[in-house]
Amino acid sequence: MTEYLVPRMRPYESTIFGEMSALAAATGSVNLGQGFPDTDGPTELIRVAADAMSAGRGNQYPAAHGTIELRRAIAAHQQRFYGLTVNADTDVVVATGASEVLAAALMALVEAGDEVLLFEPYFDIYAAQIAMTGATRITVPLGPGLRPDPVALRAAVTPRTRVLLINSPHNPTGIVYTANELDEIGRIAIDHDLIIISDEAYEHLWFDSAQHVPTATRPGLFDRTITVGSGGKTFSFTGWKVGWASGPTDLIRAVRVVRQHLSFVSGGPFQYAIAAGLAMPDSYFREFRAGLAAKRDRWCEGLADIGIDVNWPDGTYFAISDVRGLGYEDAQKFCRELPERAGVVAIPVSLFAHHPGCETLVRWAFCKREEVLDEALTRLRRAFG
Ligand SMILES: *Cc1c(COP(=O)(O)O)cnc(C)c1O
Repeated sequence: MTEYLVPRMRPYESTIFGEMSALAAATGSVNLGQGFPDTDGPTELIRVAADAMSAGRGNQYPAAHGTIELRRAIAAHQQRFYGLTVNADTDVVVATGASEVLAAALMALVEAGDEVLLFEPYFDIYAAQIAMTGATRITVPLGPGLRPDPVALRAAVTPRTRVLLINSPHNPTGIVYTANELDEIGRIAIDHDLIIISDEAYEHLWFDSAQHVPTATRPGLFDRTITVGSGGKTFSFTGWKVGWASGPTDLIRAVRVVRQHLSFVSGGPFQYAIAAGLAMPDSYFREFRAGLAAKRDRWCEGLADIGIDVNWPDGTYFAISDVRGLGYEDAQKFCRELPERAGVVAIPVSLFAHHPGCETLVRWAFCKREEVLDEALTRLRRAFG
């Protein structure tokens, strides 16, 4: 019933993930399209959520901006991991996933006539959320090696630019911005007085020496940065939908105003569980990374072994392949044919971009059990080996 939909939302009627998951089901394919883990997070957090429910904690509307327990846990987490001081009473807001807090931040900060500047390819929800605000999306392709290109970014700033939306560790490419790259991006924000929304949903998903650097820790950037986190990504409970933002009081106040009128409050019992998660010892976070790094190695080595090009990611649970070596010039065609041809589902990166450069790239989500990854590799070997 497209005719009822406002024109600015018409490009967002369906999502590629819905389409590809349907195709995966219809063909019995291994689905490496959608980025969610196929094993749950820590059992003790499930117990905390269940106990909260049984004890009547959070079963009725919790506090508007998040339970004080969770807001304190978020503040303590920012201090413990990054040395960032935020006040749990005023500088933190809890939301229904990072998704909602991103939408709230955009709605709070921009409207028709304003421009939101971001790199492409990007996490697909950004485009629809910017469209909801009526603001204009301006995208700049990532540079060589899919690294951020500050020169091109600076050239895209106009007098109407209000917000710089950045994401590291980066979905879909798996790159992790370096402190230097963030400093260069940050200088653009300072020079043009832009607000930065920093989507750090994968803050605990980085490998080897590619340690995540929060934007707000870089010189001069805390006061203009809204930092977004996701309990779903950090604790492998993507269905619980607990996310948050933290930052300077005035920016968080603006986000709170809008967010309280979206979902009003978010899943009470889960907030207690995520608070417990954020307080877990360093070993949890270390082992989480190690487990995912092992999956990355298994997947990327497996692809390389078959002769399929792959870009080893520094973070997230995504790896990118260029399909030209498999005889394709168009990753969308490749992804449409792959379920029939090999029994595997991947996502074409070009759907998250508007400029040329990503036509031949596909994204694999490797946050799956070893036997699932191995089955996908076996199938790809049969089709392409
Ligand atoms: C998954 C994801 C989100 C959304 O997180 P939720 O907490 O599930 O809403 C935000 N940003 C990026 C880059 C993501 O990949």
